[in-house]
Amino acid sequence: MIREMAEEIRRQFLLAGYEIPLEEVEDRLRKLIIDFKVPEDEAKRSVHNYFLKELNLKSLPLQRDSELVKISEIKEGGRWISLKAKVLELWEPRSESVSQVGLLGDDTGVIKFVIWAKSDLPDVEEGKSYLFKNVVSDVYQGRTQVNINRNSEIIELKEDVSTKPREMEITGAIIDIYSGSGLIQRCPECGRIVNKGICSTHGKVIGVYDLRVRVVLDDGEETYDLFIDRERIERICDLTVEKAKKMIAESLDRTVVEDYIASKLLGRYFKVTGRIFGRYFFVENMRSLEISPEEVEKLIEEVESL
Ligand SMILES: [Zn+2]
Repeated sequence: MIREMAEEIRRQFLLAGYEIPLEEVEDRLRKLIIDFKVPEDEAKRSVHNYFLKELNLKSLPLQRDSELVKISEIKEGGRWISLKAKVLELWEPRSESVSQVGLLGDDTGVIKFVIWAKSDLPDVEEGKSYLFKNVVSDVYQGRTQVNINRNSEIIELKEDVSTKPREMEITGAIIDIYSGSGLIQRCPECGRIVNKGICSTHGKVIGVYDLRVRVVLDDGEETYDLFIDRERIERICDLTVEKAKKMIAESLDRTVVEDYIASKLLGRYFKVTGRIFGRYFFVENMRSLEISPEEVEKLIEEVESL
């Protein structure tokens, strides 16, 4: 009985965004009701007021549905919020107190979520979108997450919440290169690739030269299609649009550029960061994991000088 009263008081505070210790609420109620024979209602009021005072509050903020936010707006812990998001991934919970754990996404970002076993909520499914009502933001090991507890609600949405591609880092070997990689021409209007001077939307155009490469990277578990743009090709392959044009002019063969790029990438190991949509990976940063002959020499010198 006293336990239930304590839980009710704690819940009122929780809904307003304040966490108070259940044991202390219960102890205070017990003391008033059993030791001092204070009537229950008065005891409840008294304990409620005690915690208000502890929190420097005149009254609890009016309880209403928490604010609907986007994932990128979740920056600090202890906030009651609601969000519309898609379940991107489910992981194996490591603790029995957790019913589900994984990643949620919307068009502004990705965040970890935890559904506590005590919340007694139905399971969510990967790839489905939901309205998560009255969940609490939290910061755990320096990263934000949302906790879904028994004051929360999960409502499946008919609409599909669009998600932002995920930022990822992968390491592996480049095992294949798509033909058509190398020097290309783009439509100056829309950026589409121009084939024999014709843009599929704008007709005959004067194409703008560009470099692009699509390769397959194998990280030992999965393969990804990597899209590499000019800026990165210039750096990694030591190739510019001008150099590529010259190579073609000298050899009178378009595939010479693709062959050159293949010789720089195929069979080599890279650490790559970028954005991923399914298996399509848009490279933002790329670093060779091999040591250059100069670096080898430097290492030998260092070892010899020891
Ligand atoms: Zn066009």
